[in-house]
Parts: sequence; structure tokens; C-alpha cells
Amino acid sequence: MCGILGYTGNKQAAPILLDGLAKLEYRGYDSAGIAVYDGGNINIKKSRGRLKILADMTEQGDLLKGTCGIGHTRWATHGEPSDTNAHPLWSDDKTVVAIHNGIVENYREIKDKLSEKGYSFYSQTDTEAAVKLIDFYYKANNHDALIAITKAMQVIRGSYCFVIMFNDRPGEVWGVRKDNPLIAGQGDGEAFLTSDASAILQHTKHVYYFDNFEIAKIDADGSIIFYNKNGEQVNKTLSEITWDAQAVEKGGFEHFMLKEIHEQGKAVRDTLHNQDIGIRDSEIKNISQIYIIACGSAYHAGYVGQYVIEDLAKIPVRMELASEFRYRSMPLDKNALAIVISQSGETADTLAAMRRAKEHGLKTLAIVNVVGSTIAREAESVFYTLAGPEIAVATTKAYSAQLIACYVLALRFALVRQVINQDYYNKLFNELEEIPAKIDEILDQKENIREIAKKFINANDAFFLGRNIDYALAMEGSLKMKEISYLHSEAIAAGEMKHGPISLVENHMPVIGILTQSVLYKKTVSNMLEVKSRGAYILGITTQGNAALERDADFIFYIPETDEHFAASLAVIPLQLLGYYLAAAKGLDVDKPRNLAKSVTVE
Ligand code: GLU
Repeated sequence: MCGILGYTGNKQAAPILLDGLAKLEYRGYDSAGIAVYDGGNINIKKSRGRLKILADMTEQGDLLKGTCGIGHTRWATHGEPSDTNAHPLWSDDKTVVAIHNGIVENYREIKDKLSEKGYSFYSQTDTEAAVKLIDFYYKANNHDALIAITKAMQVIRGSYCFVIMFNDRPGEVWGVRKDNPLIAGQGDGEAFLTSDASAILQHTKHVYYFDNFEIAKIDADGSIIFYNKNGEQVNKTLSEITWDAQAVEKGGFEHFMLKEIHEQGKAVRDTLHNQDIGIRDSEIKNISQIYIIACGSAYHAGYVGQYVIEDLAKIPVRMELASEFRYRSMPLDKNALAIVISQSGETADTLAAMRRAKEHGLKTLAIVNVVGSTIAREAESVFYTLAGPEIAVATTKAYSAQLIACYVLALRFALVRQVINQDYYNKLFNELEEIPAKIDEILDQKENIREIAKKFINANDAFFLGRNIDYALAMEGSLKMKEISYLHSEAIAAGEMKHGPISLVENHMPVIGILTQSVLYKKTVSNMLEVKSRGAYILGITTQGNAALERDADFIFYIPETDEHFAASLAVIPLQLLGYYLAAAKGLDVDKPRNLAKSVTVE
């Protein structure tokens, strides 16, 4: 959620930190700050608000001289967004200066204990308690940074990544993490610590991934040393990031979201051709049932997958919201497969749910976009979606890649369990090969959606209706609309309208019906006519050749024909565009919607 960056080397740190933090702006934040070691002191500048304020305040970093520093963008969990609560936070004499991503759950207890020892607190953050705890152990242990950090780790509960400087350790930056992302970047005579590779891609593609509870020290000569929680040095393998710096630029598009909508054909194609689906045929044969566990749009992708897997492979699938599953007491079948889906691979609830499934002896298969992320590392097996970096907070291409991963699994499961034969498998796979070109065909008509989006500007509420796969799509369409254009909307399984929600229908209320499943066309059309006769303005998204809505809908958008199992991959495009164009027409910050952040690393 927040952005973390540490630098040490031979260049000026502040401009590198500001530039790197700008690459993390998409993650959403409310304050920003940097601290730079100037040879004798650690100088700190921080402010509530966007990075630009901090950049102006420091004359683009010019005012803070020094070649070692840390920078942070905050997404407040404890204490309002304010100059004081912004990170970095420091111990009273600035012996310890640190930034933090995550939550220190027992910060009150730590504060109480430290208060008894004479510490006082100036911020409302949980972070300050941890910073002062490290300070306490640092001073109690003869200024030994490693001991101070390991001792603090034994006390701190919750999830965290800390990046720390000590005022008597010039050139050194320390990092430690538990359940929140942190990587170390190896440059030439310089080194980095960051929560997200995008921040350092222009300097290096060579990184070390932290395991949970690992600590690293980066030093002015560019050296990186890792330790485990017992303080023993550990050897790590250097990995190479395959994304390039361009992937995190807008490339001529007005917003990252629009760029990413256009990158969906490629994301689909690359994911479809990923040879490593993470699970072996022998394992597939033994699956008794599947739990698909995820949050937000990943949950909606899984929801489509549920219908497709059940229909093609005939394996029962149960959908679980990760935030619910993790705390639920339910009998779990040991022969079940838990499929967890997460773009970032850091989603706190999904990670916790996956750990729970593992504890109960279930096999875990993660569908994840970010290589080396925590979920990818902890799952027994991984099917990587190859969508590339996704910057806009509202997911588009990662969702599309997740859908494809679900289809690929469904086809494989069906073939291996001999529910379908090789010919039918090939036929369906060929259909999938055609999806990217069909997505581009839809994108060629995006102006039509832009026009229709304008009609929504004055709406206060909207409904998305569908049945079966179309219901899963309705959920995603509704979420897109809520998260970026702030129009309240609800997704309803079309048959449920008359059980309550229809009472909300008023004159001119937009109701978007999704009709891609031919056996259900007539049923959904009836439900749409029921709302139309109560004044709703009805829009249909359906497949070319379906004339069922022609006479009655106020607007229809046609998607190209495909095998109906895969229609979500096409029908979602106009839904994404609808949310996008409405947000753009309202002049909203499309890529960074209010209150939201990419990669939800807190519970
Ligand atoms: N819990 C910390 C705070 O509220 C860190 C939040 C973050 O991850 O940005 O300051």
C-alpha cells in the first residue's frame, strides 16, 4: 500500500528517493517523507499530501545533501494523515529514524512499557512505538543494530516492513520484513531497499527477495548482507526482474488505466502460453473439490472460474472471500485444492487465508502476477499471470489474465480427468487464442462507450444484472464503477431483483444487463423489462447475433462471438471502459481513486 525506498551509494540520495517514490505514487497514499544522512546528521522532511509538496519543499531534493537516505509514502492506518504522523519517524534524539509499511498490532503495550522507561510519544502512529523500541534495544546493546532489530522483532506483533537508519552508522540502511513486501536491489556501487521493484527499475534489475523475518544491511559501497532472525548471516540468490522501466510509464495514454485496458490482449496471450500452470496431472486427478479464495476483482475472476471449472471439469468449486475464510471455522476436505488469486501476491487477507488452508493440509495453488511475492513464495505451486506491472489502482489487465489462468486450469482439469477429449480441448484452446484479437475489436469501438458513459454523469445509483457467468461479470462491472467513478452501484443476480432490490428502481436509473449465456438470455431479458417498466434506463451488453434485447434496450453494446465459457473475457472490456470513461468525464483521479490503494497489505 505505502511505498518504501532506501538508498545508499555514491549519488545524491534525495533526488533518487523522490524519483523512486513517484514510481510508487499509484499505490495510493496520503503523506510523504524522506530522511537523508548528511555526513553528521539525519535530515528529515515530510508532509501530508502528494509527493509534489515534498518535492517543492526540498527543491526537488536539492536541499537535502547526502548519499544515503530513506523515503516513504504513507497510507494511514493509525493516526490521521498529518505532517506529524507522516514517516520517517524518529526516536527522541534521532538515533533511530525509520519508515514502516504495515501495522504494529501491539503498539499500545509497547508504548506503555517504553513510557515506564521514560519515553514519550509525539505522533499517533503505531510506527513510532516500534521505532522507539528499536532505539531502546540499540542503546541497551551497545549500539548493535542487528541485535536491536532482532530483539524488537521478538516483541512486535502484526505485519511490517521497516527500513531504518541509525545516526551513528553513516552509509548504512537496514531493512526487515514480516508479511509485507521488501526487496533489496543490487546496483553498481550502490544498493536499494524497496517495497516495489518499479521504484528501482531504472537503476537495477538485480534483486534479492526477503524471506519473512529476514534482515538486511545495505552499505555505502553497495554491499548487501542478509541475516536471519537469529542474527546469523544467510546467503541469498540474486534474481533478475524481467519488466523494464518503460512498463511503468504511461506511454502516451492519458491514464495508466486506459493503457492497461489496451494491454489486455497481450496479457491474455502471454498468460495463455505460460507453460507452467503450477500443478501436475497426478495431483489434478486426486482433487476432491476446489476452494477459490481471493478479494475484490480477483474474487470476481475466480467467480467466473468457478462456473467454468464446474461446467468443464465437473469438480465442485466453492468461492471464499479471503477476509471471511481466514476467520471461519469450517470442516475442510484434505483432498481439496485451494486456489488463491492475487495480483500483487501480497494481499494480506489472501495470504492469511492461504496459510490457513495450508495448516489444514490442503494443497495450495496461487494465481499471482508479481514474481517473488510472498504468496508466490509460500504457495505450494504457482501459476503466474503474465500481465506485467499494473499501475492503476483499479485492475484491468491483471483481472483479464486471472480469468485466462482459470480457463487454462479448467481445461487442463477437464482433460486430465477425462471429462473432455483432446479434440474438444483443442477446440476450446483455439477459441482462447482468438480472445486477444477480439478484445482489440472491442477496443476499436470504445468511443461508443465513452458516449454512453456521459449519460451516467447525473446518476446516483446503478444496477448491474446477470445470471451465472454474467452475474460474476456484473460484480466486476459494478466494482469498477464504484471504485473509480464513485457512482454507487450494485451487482444483483438477475433473478434476485424481485426479492427486494427492485424497490429501489426509479425513473432514469441506469440498469446494465449482461447477456452472454444463451440459455439464460430470455430470463435476464424478462428481468430487464421488469425494471424498464418501472422507469429504468436499460443498457445491454450481449453477443453479436443475440437480438433478444434489440427492441427494448435503450442502448446495446455487442461483443464478438466466442465459446460462452470465455465470454467474460470480452464482456468485461465494455464494463471497464464504462467505469473509466465515467470517471474521466467527472474529472476524477482515475489511476488513484480516493481512499484506495494498490496491493492491500493490511487486513
Ligand atoms: N501503520 C503505519 C501508519 O499508520 C504505516 C502505514 C503504511 O503502511 O503506510 O503510519
